[in-house]
Amino acid sequence: MRVAIIGSGPSGFYAAEALLKRTDEVVHVDMFDRLPTPYGLVRGGVAPDHQNIKAVTRIYEKTAARPTFRFFGNVRLGKDLTVDDLRRHYHQIVYAVGNEADRRLGIPGEGVPRCTPATVFIGWYNGHPDYRHAKIDLSVSRVAVVGNGNVAIDAARILLRTPAELEKTDIAAHALEVLRKSQVREVFILGRRGPEQASFTSVELEELGEMEDAEPVVAPGELVGLIIPEAARSKQQQKNLKILQSFAERPLGTKSKKLHLRFLVSPTEVICGPDDGVSGLKLEKNRLEMQADGTVAARGTGEIEALEVGMVLPAIGFSAERISGVPYDEKKRVIANEDGRVIDPVSHLTIPNEYVVGWARTGPQGLIGSHKGASAHVVAHMVTDGTGLAEKVLPDPEAIINLLHKQGVQVVSFNDWKQLDDVEVARGVRRESPRDKIVDVEIMLSILGQH
Ligand SMILES: Cc1cc2nc3c(=O)[nH]c(=O)nc-3n(C[C@H](O)[C@H](O)[C@H](O)COP(=O)(O)OP(=O)(O)OC[C@H]3O[C@@H](n4cnc5c(N)ncnc54)[C@H](O)[C@@H]3O)c2cc1C
Repeated sequence: MRVAIIGSGPSGFYAAEALLKRTDEVVHVDMFDRLPTPYGLVRGGVAPDHQNIKAVTRIYEKTAARPTFRFFGNVRLGKDLTVDDLRRHYHQIVYAVGNEADRRLGIPGEGVPRCTPATVFIGWYNGHPDYRHAKIDLSVSRVAVVGNGNVAIDAARILLRTPAELEKTDIAAHALEVLRKSQVREVFILGRRGPEQASFTSVELEELGEMEDAEPVVAPGELVGLIIPEAARSKQQQKNLKILQSFAERPLGTKSKKLHLRFLVSPTEVICGPDDGVSGLKLEKNRLEMQADGTVAARGTGEIEALEVGMVLPAIGFSAERISGVPYDEKKRVIANEDGRVIDPVSHLTIPNEYVVGWARTGPQGLIGSHKGASAHVVAHMVTDGTGLAEKVLPDPEAIINLLHKQGVQVVSFNDWKQLDDVEVARGVRRESPRDKIVDVEIMLSILGQH
């Protein structure tokens, strides 16, 4: 059985692991990624000061070391390879392409300089090649981060860490240089709904109280007007409220930078200043309304305030990119699927032998570990559906490499990646960090060319 997996993030690697562990069938997995480097958001999203989480890649290395696994980096589906190519060369296809597009606020002024989607900011500090030239101007003193998830917390924390805290991480060198000179002193994390509805995990929230030179500030007024009865609150809600309460009770300390957590406000307009960049954010105060289905909605009260900030980072979610030939669900903004089986979004008929895992299947929900079970669940469908499929004769396994070479693609193997990995780790020794990332694909390819 030959399977193509597109995307080398956690969901792709966990799907590969489940496929390669099959005992009823010998499965050959070819994994493609548009970047020369594997691991998706573990490399390009997870915050650099969370090195322990990035250590999960050791498990993926073990999967990659299996004899029936091949990695093809620097190959983009939709550009270097088409869905039809995949259908010709493989029995089954798994899309594991994540959520690489960001959701927009949809308010006036959103395009103004220094209103920068969190995707860009995060990609920039993590050395993602797409964002290495992003213009991140930290000459401003106050920043608003819009959103109430861990991504908002990550962005705020990186803005507020000291250079000494960041140096020892694998943050991109270009970002470290800009952050060293940062003038940012206050960050506001803004939530549309209340503290009970925030999707922060408690560990990330708690960490905000442990920064070297920045401290969380929660005005006591932010924690009134809770809507969920105490007995009905989830464990995470209880823990988060306790942490927020402890922040609210802290006397204002002496740390030089402040992180304000604010709830029940929706941005209505990005205000443009005399330098043509962000100078403020108009916010409408919200109230909460319990819906018949038990969900909690925010409703605008008409009360408007202007928050003086020089930069806005919207962190309100992601959606899957559209890839030519891959069915797309416009409503959910993911690859059209039913429980991981790809479907035609109009007829709802299953597209045979095509599957989707990870964020491309569900949208941006779930931590890295959650993909292990979720990808195995989809692989179970592949096993059920794939009876007899392996008998279909396919082109020679080398044919896909010849096809890519004919297209002029410099394919990066897993061994090539290991060489880049060694170079990055060696460069990191200079600043006593785990690695100093290479952020330019051309440079990566030229290093491999020299070898
Ligand atoms: C900022 C941020 C911080 C996070 N921090 C944590 C954390 O601390 N702990 C935690 O557990 N989880 C964290 N997460 C969540 C975690 O990263 C995700 O759950 C997980 O990465 C999703 O895995 P995935 O495989 O679906 O997608 P991804 O990890 O996004 O992988 C998708 C892969 O597909 C590739 N790709 C995309 N399009 C194509 C194409 N056309 N052709 C070829 N390849 C393509 C991409 O290059 C990428 O490598 C964080 C997420 C974000 C955004």
